[in-house]
Amino acid sequence: MSVTRRGDSPPASFHQRKGSHNVTLNIDYGLCAGCGACAEVYPTLFEIRDDKAWIIDYTKFRFEEHKDLPTICPYRAITIE
Ligand code: SF4
Repeated sequence: MSVTRRGDSPPASFHQRKGSHNVTLNIDYGLCAGCGACAEVYPTLFEIRDDKAWIIDYTKFRFEEHKDLPTICPYRAITIE
């Protein structure tokens, strides 16, 4: 399950164009357990809201810098596609 919007908050999923590729960073709320590991490692990118991870500033996401991001989530809720 993928949730792209909750209320008027920023999207949990967004697309970023990198060269000729579209990159999507996504949090799967069906898998996210709200453990906080992502927010602890990348506090400029994630925070916990309502017991789920939230992308707080997607402009800070850089594919080349953050391509290992999915590995920090023990529940495999973060994907980059
Ligand atoms: S590390 Fe994964 S399970 Fe934990 S809060 Fe972040 S997205 Fe959710």
